[in-house]
Amino acid sequence: MTENTVEFGGQQLTRGDLLYEGKAKQVFATNDPSIIWMHYMDQVTALNGKVKEEYSGKGELNSSISNLLFTYLSNQGLQHHWLGSISATDELVKKVDIIPLEVVTRNYTAGHFVSRFGVEPMQQLSPRVQELYYKSDELDDPFMNDSQAVSLHFASEADLKTVYGLADQVNELLVALFNKIDITLIDYKLEFGRLADGQIILADELSPDNMRLVDQKTGKSLDKDVFRQKQGDLRVGYQDVLQRLQDALK
Ligand code: 5GP
Repeated sequence: MTENTVEFGGQQLTRGDLLYEGKAKQVFATNDPSIIWMHYMDQVTALNGKVKEEYSGKGELNSSISNLLFTYLSNQGLQHHWLGSISATDELVKKVDIIPLEVVTRNYTAGHFVSRFGVEPMQQLSPRVQELYYKSDELDDPFMNDSQAVSLHFASEADLKTVYGLADQVNELLVALFNKIDITLIDYKLEFGRLADGQIILADELSPDNMRLVDQKTGKSLDKDVFRQKQGDLRVGYQDVLQRLQDALK
């Protein structure tokens, strides 16, 4: 691989235009219209980008964790956009039209669920909670209910049923995996997209940037809450998560 080209699945792929820059990732076109090139950045943000810092190596940690989790999900039969890793910080994914909804699953109370409803943190939620947010930086990702999402034509009722079903499959698989490595999966955000033929699949990334993970033995956060709450270097927890996943999945 040179910086901008890579041999993948028997074809030469070249990185093209920057399509989108998020808070922690850059998304590029390639010469194959069905394939997207994603680059994980070292930047970390909180409060929807209002607080920003660089942590060298963070992109690599997130890319490695995400790659392991997507590989685990495919081994369990779940379809998603991830195709393969091409460097420590870059990966190829299937081109999808992202549905502009953030799908949050909560297994325990934390974060906005605690501030919104005045409940104690770390209470198990049974059944798990599923929430939708409208993906909009300008509007700070407002909460959105199903009928709003359907009425605004972001997704049909059938699409939402698919999305919630996939989110539940992901939840079952991830909770089981994290439990094996003594980590509680508190909550997390997923995104979904549509392939050219309309099929809805899991997209985006799976990393401690968009999950809350708590060490079952120490009660310590191993995710972006360490940065949000100014508790130190978030890379320590991310490295710990990566190491445990590598050991469990090898
Ligand atoms: P909360 O609603 O409590 O802030 O977040 C719930 C979960 O979803 C947390 O694990 C959080 O990391 C994730 N999450 C919610 N919104 C976003 C977002 O816009 N970006 C990222 N990276 N994660 C999010």
